Amino acid sequence: MKKIIVLGSTGSIGRQTLEVIRKFPREFEVTGLSGGKNWKFLAKQIREFRPRFIATQAPLKFPKSKILPLEKISEKKCDLMVSAISGVAGLRPTLKAIQRGRKIALANKESLVLAGRVVMQEAKKYHSKILPIDSEHSAVWQLLEKIPRSKVRKIILTASGGALRDTPISEFKNISPEKVLAHPTWKMGKKITLDCATMANKAFEIIEAAYLFDFPFEKIEAVIHPQSLVHAMVETVDGNIFAQLAMPDMRLPIQHALFDGERKKNLIKPLNLTGNLEFRKIEKMRYPLFFTILEAAEKGGIFPAVAAAASEVFGKKFLAGDIKFSEIAHLTKKVLRETPPQPANLKNIFTAVEKIKNQFA
Ligand code: NDP
Repeated sequence: MKKIIVLGSTGSIGRQTLEVIRKFPREFEVTGLSGGKNWKFLAKQIREFRPRFIATQAPLKFPKSKILPLEKISEKKCDLMVSAISGVAGLRPTLKAIQRGRKIALANKESLVLAGRVVMQEAKKYHSKILPIDSEHSAVWQLLEKIPRSKVRKIILTASGGALRDTPISEFKNISPEKVLAHPTWKMGKKITLDCATMANKAFEIIEAAYLFDFPFEKIEAVIHPQSLVHAMVETVDGNIFAQLAMPDMRLPIQHALFDGERKKNLIKPLNLTGNLEFRKIEKMRYPLFFTILEAAEKGGIFPAVAAAASEVFGKKFLAGDIKFSEIAHLTKKVLRETPPQPANLKNIFTAVEKIKNQFA
């Protein structure tokens, strides 16, 4: 049995991971779970899975489970650690597990946006294998298994376009958090749902793909695909394009990562191929944050980390009703403009992230 630790088990990816695990009781044993504020739900999961270790700040007591800080649980021995904490908080525990040489099923894309170079260097140094959970990266992983890297001209990730894909831009001024959180295709946590509406998520995914697949950043593109059936495409040097299609259901890429790419049956509805597949350009006016984050990534150093931390803080402010939707992009850009360049080592990254939190959160 494979021993699994799920960080962020109470979230959307965490719950779906446990759903997949439930279907394969002979294959997996849950040895660790971590939650954030939703401790009641964590308690329910602990009663069901009886993990040896839990990470929680709530006063939970279970005789057979030891409570540990987040960074300690991620150091515990396991065959696979699912990194599904949302936002910048996911970096430290993910890095700890990598430094212990664990195999990681990575949902927390922010780890690579904040510190991609360091994360991948540490993974190499400690022989830690990183498997993508994100559906787009799972698609690229599967496509690159079939296509020699030297023959790839371009990687193309698809984006749903988020909740505001068809909303007139003139309405953005007064858009409510409820409207932004009503994603047309995927049911996900609040942060990533908001990041889909601003398209920050797709910029993060381009950065994530560049590190995961060690592929030049400028050769990774994104296109809006409202149906969310094609998850990624790979264009070869001769102009052919290969696509991966699947139902928009995260349990599929999660299962693929849990089994390290081995194909197993599942209960997900087969894809019905009748209907249209539509592709659209990402418009600058509608999605300014996408372009701002990519500019930050091009500049390198601590800029992508600053873009991730600032957009997260301002995103939370928007959801709390403190700022307008358009200010997320505007304020992130302002913070980036005011940030002096610095090399992307962990000290500089964490200092910059803390500074943003202290100044704006
Ligand atoms: P959710 O908001 O649904 O869940 C986040 C999880 O992280 C919860 O368990 C939450 O605990 C926990 N958490 C949040 N902040 C902290 C913290 N400071 N300390 C400890 N635990 C914390 O997010 P998602 O599941 O949607 O996303 C998780 C990650 O996966 C993100 O990086 C996202 O970009 C990525 N991802 C998500 C997809 C999806 O379909 N949802 C698809 C692809 C990638 P609690 O709820 O108990 O507070």
